[in-house]
Amino acid sequence: MSAKIYYDKDADLSLLNDKKVVFLGFGNQGSAQAQNLRDSGIPNDNILIANRQDSYAETAKSKGFHVEHDFGKAAAVADVLFILVPDQVQPRIFNNDFAPKLKSSVTIVVASGYNVFYKLLNFTSTQDVVMVAPRMIGSSVRSLYEAKKGFPCFVSVEQEGSGNALSIALAISRAIGATKTGAIASSAREETAMDLFAEQALWPQIIMLFREAFSVLKEAGCSDEALCYEMWMSKEPAEIFERAAEEGFITQLKHHSSVSQFGQLSGALALDGAEVRSHFKNILYNQVLNGKFCQEFSKIEQDLEKDGPENPLNELYRKAESSEMGQAEKRVRDRLAGMI
Ligand code: NDP
Repeated sequence: MSAKIYYDKDADLSLLNDKKVVFLGFGNQGSAQAQNLRDSGIPNDNILIANRQDSYAETAKSKGFHVEHDFGKAAAVADVLFILVPDQVQPRIFNNDFAPKLKSSVTIVVASGYNVFYKLLNFTSTQDVVMVAPRMIGSSVRSLYEAKKGFPCFVSVEQEGSGNALSIALAISRAIGATKTGAIASSAREETAMDLFAEQALWPQIIMLFREAFSVLKEAGCSDEALCYEMWMSKEPAEIFERAAEEGFITQLKHHSSVSQFGQLSGALALDGAEVRSHFKNILYNQVLNGKFCQEFSKIEQDLEKDGPENPLNELYRKAESSEMGQAEKRVRDRLAGMI
């Protein structure tokens, strides 16, 4: 299955002429995307940052943006609304403060599929809802734009209100610099499935593999120091992934020694992935796509703002850090910092 890719030539920036563009949030993505949009020629007077009165708002002001603290007022003037606050707070802020005041013709832009796929935001049927989802952290969205390079991004129309939602989505993508190297046609479902799958299926396996590998090698007499450096602190894995992105997931192996290439390829091909595949499918269908994780996460979401052990995330960190590998790494890092 191949996806359509949109470039600058597919996008007409003039569709944003005279539109009031409101950014809800001026954090990682908000600050980067608002600055890129302005540098693409959208007049500063047509851009409004909606943010509570605090340091993010001060940063926006220091960069010359108009800032509105009253979310209802910001909502009422928006022709395009970027929702760029953390995913878990979007339903509350959007549904309570923005939705009742928004124009019926507004284009709503999300940078992640989560709340749209799980239907947590209340849109009216005349509104366009589009996804423009950079595959980059905000600082890179900005620095790549400044370097006149693009960044990978997913784009989709999630609800057609105006009859012109795709063209507006592409204009927005171009304005933030996302069509320079190509914005890939996707969907909230696809973005959410891949994102949550990586977080809940793939990376947990990788963390577990490192933990168990550490334990087996330690049992065989390897030192904590040697293991930490061998496995990640040397940054070799980071370099391998960098090469994989640039040259190819398998092709990058050619930079390794023959012993290494032979070991990696013959070892991987000999592994039967059936059990992992079945586990992966279970996570994808019975945890991600059926909304089970989303429902469970929404029950604990408020607790994530608590301090101490009442915060479930703190508990998970405590357990993970108390593992053999976590403790060993702490000792090594303390020693390197000259603390013991
Ligand atoms: P941030 O955590 O950087 O958002 C910070 C902004 O949200 C600030 O303006 C902050 O203002 C505001 N905010 C936070 N909590 C609240 C609250 N309770 N009420 C009102 N405002 C609040 O978000 P990101 O930029 O990381 O993420 C925004 C969107 O972009 C998400 O949908 C995310 O999935 C997506 N995305 C993020 C990427 C990333 O690299 N971070 C990559 C691609 C997509 P204040 O606290 O001052 O009110």
